[in-house]
Amino acid sequence: MNKKVLAIFSHPDDVELMCAGTLSLLKKQGCEIHIATMTMGDKGTDEYSRKEISVIRREEAKNSAKLINASYSCLEFEDVYIFYNRETINKVTELMREIQPAIVFTASPEDYMVDHEMTSRIIQTSCFACGMKNMELNNKSFEPVPYLYYSDPLEGKDKLGKQILPSLYVNISEEMPVKEKMLSCHKSQRNWLLKHHKMDEYILAMKRFSGKRGREIGTKYAEGFRQHLGHGYPQDNILKKILGNLVVVR
Ligand SMILES: [Zn+2]
Repeated sequence: MNKKVLAIFSHPDDVELMCAGTLSLLKKQGCEIHIATMTMGDKGTDEYSRKEISVIRREEAKNSAKLINASYSCLEFEDVYIFYNRETINKVTELMREIQPAIVFTASPEDYMVDHEMTSRIIQTSCFACGMKNMELNNKSFEPVPYLYYSDPLEGKDKLGKQILPSLYVNISEEMPVKEKMLSCHKSQRNWLLKHHKMDEYILAMKRFSGKRGREIGTKYAEGFRQHLGHGYPQDNILKKILGNLVVVR
């Protein structure tokens, strides 16, 4: 059974906020974990240059991935310039064909930031395009289409404030220490918020939201997802198969 997992999100720290607990659980079940970001998070600062922050955040993302023995790669796009176009789709599809994941996690199709929404759309297409022989890419096509799961949007709401409810929850109560550690690797972001909020809002907000999702299924902490169930995508729930009772389907 193919147990390769790719979590591909827009910015460094998106993975940690949205699905690090689930990735840690999958790792324990023998999955091979790959983390990728579309950008280096080059605008996520008010004290460093683009070049400086890119170096800092690449290191932070690598350190975080190491904690669950995951690989890390960046597709080298820029914050707020993630476009749904030929170049982007080809680059993402090449990465997917290189890894050949069985399971893909990405951002919510509705979210607070267009970067996230674009990434979500691009990943939807790239999952499908993995098997298209006429794509004229270097890496060979493969089948079947990976299982695709969308994470929660930030704070669980879309840009109009509407709550987005997950269709499945993963109980990550036991994984909270590693999720917190992974997020803490993103020191530049943590310090940025610390400066603005005068409190450790970065970690607190993550715990608050994981706690809210946890309460919804009667446990301490959870992460929420929705599975892409459009035509051509796998219809069964492989997460439930691998993680068993830790997955609650709604
Ligand atoms: Zn982000």
